[in-house]
Amino acid sequence: MENIRENVHRILQQIPPHVRLIAVSKTKSAEEILEAYRAGIKDFGENYVQELRQKQPILPNDISWHFIGHLQSNKVKYIAPFVAYIHGVDDVALLQEIEKQAAKHARKIPCLLQIAIATDGSKFGFSTDETFDFLKNGAYKRFEHIVFAGVMGMGSLTEDREITRKEYRLLKTFFDRLKTEVFFDSDDFKEISMGMSHDFDIAIEEGATMIRIGTAIFGERSYK
Ligand SMILES: *Cc1c(COP(=O)(O)O)cnc(C)c1O
Repeated sequence: MENIRENVHRILQQIPPHVRLIAVSKTKSAEEILEAYRAGIKDFGENYVQELRQKQPILPNDISWHFIGHLQSNKVKYIAPFVAYIHGVDDVALLQEIEKQAAKHARKIPCLLQIAIATDGSKFGFSTDETFDFLKNGAYKRFEHIVFAGVMGMGSLTEDREITRKEYRLLKTFFDRLKTEVFFDSDDFKEISMGMSHDFDIAIEEGATMIRIGTAIFGERSYK
């Protein structure tokens, strides 16, 4: 096993206290997750509903589970009872389904809107214009069981750190615009989820409040 505890401690030393470290545990076992938990991590990120459903009941119940993958509407019901945050909400139909399932469980689920910031052509996320229009006309207020908690972004798949920096800066700028023009009287809208193992230092410099780290904690993933 990777030295998970050492990895967690090393990373925690590199991040300021206002940044939340989310350990991305997709494909990793319950034992590995427990190692990170014992090193002080309480926030874990998973990408696959099926996998999350299997892990959640057998792991400590003070863990906050972040769903960070691409979420299909028909699977929201499985995670709605317990999920702490849904990152990567990327269309209105999905918001509608989250609203419905959260209401069923009398919960308010914090969601981060995924904004398309990558310049390499990957298309996941709302465009900034789409998001702005949707929010500006106030229609989002009918989602009473969703907390609009902030934004999330994935940079281009690139080694070029200047490209990454530009993309993260774009997300921060857009967040600031939403904060001043839409969510000026909301204390909930405060999170910027960006940065992974190879670029979290840049993300923090550019204003991340949540970083999502997998490989640097758990080692390489092997997909079965
Ligand atoms: C897998 C994944 C991560 C973690 O990536 P690492 O490079 O292993 O740190 C972060 N965010 C999302 C959305 C992911 O799918």
